Amino acid sequence: AIAMPAMAQEVNLYSYRQPELLAPLTDAFTEETGIKVNVAHLEDGMVERLKAEGARSPADLVLTVDIARIYDVVANDLTQPVQSETLEQNVPAAFHDPDGHWWGLTTRARIVYASKERVADGEVTTYEDLADPKWKGRICTRSGTHPYNLALVSAMIHHNGYDAAKEWAEGVKATLARKPQGNDRAQVKGIWSGECDISIGNTYYMGAMLNDPEQKEWADSVRIVFPTFEGGGAHMNISGVALTKAAPNKENAIRMMEFLTSPKAQEIYAEANYEYPIAPGTEPAALVKSWGGFTPDEVNLTDLAKLRPEALQIIQSVDFDG
Ligand code: FE
Repeated sequence: AIAMPAMAQEVNLYSYRQPELLAPLTDAFTEETGIKVNVAHLEDGMVERLKAEGARSPADLVLTVDIARIYDVVANDLTQPVQSETLEQNVPAAFHDPDGHWWGLTTRARIVYASKERVADGEVTTYEDLADPKWKGRICTRSGTHPYNLALVSAMIHHNGYDAAKEWAEGVKATLARKPQGNDRAQVKGIWSGECDISIGNTYYMGAMLNDPEQKEWADSVRIVFPTFEGGGAHMNISGVALTKAAPNKENAIRMMEFLTSPKAQEIYAEANYEYPIAPGTEPAALVKSWGGFTPDEVNLTDLAKLRPEALQIIQSVDFDG
């Protein structure tokens, strides 16, 4: 037999996700496969970095939150498609690229935080309804140009068309209690302090606030309501993974993608960050479950990513933040 040089089994990640979240997942992967995982945590500039590195990039996988960020990597021709039966089984159709360029790993819903005291059960049911004048002076939100809100407006365009979505954005602006400012949690603080009655935010922030001594009071002043689009479901977004075009360790990378969607890894995700695991049959954490069941919207997130320029145009043309 011919002696082959020992190949170092490894895989390299570029990640926007926090080290604390990723460490238990990469540890479990290495334990199961013997493949070493190297992680570069980036704050921003992933696309620029991958472009600059080109074919010599050491990165095999990129991990991001929000469809816009992962789609940005795909749209810049920095990824390659992955076909995998395991991934197809573990990731519902709405949450992966039809061509396999990106795959969701966890989901979050963009929902309404409602004052326990000042908002009655059943008062909020649809996203469309947030433009109703009955909310005048009662809604708080972060900037309309934030990726989370642009994805929501993209979904509004998808369901109701550009003109209706623009009218909706104008209507919501007219209800705002104050100019858009701060992050999702700052809006819940606004409800706690009495400035507004409802706000728009992502589900996992409820968990984050409950675990923060200062913010727990804010969280305790609200409940989560899952609105739906008329004829649709609750607006969903993802954290996701993509295989880079240059991937020097392609096989190991695909193995890691499959691992991240496996029940074992999905349970680690579920406990770590108050997100929803993506694999069918995997349960969210008990706290997350306590927020109640809901119907997720079924639009493919690639379709929403493609509507983002129109969503931005709407937000700017109605001067949403002004
Ligand atoms: Fe967030």
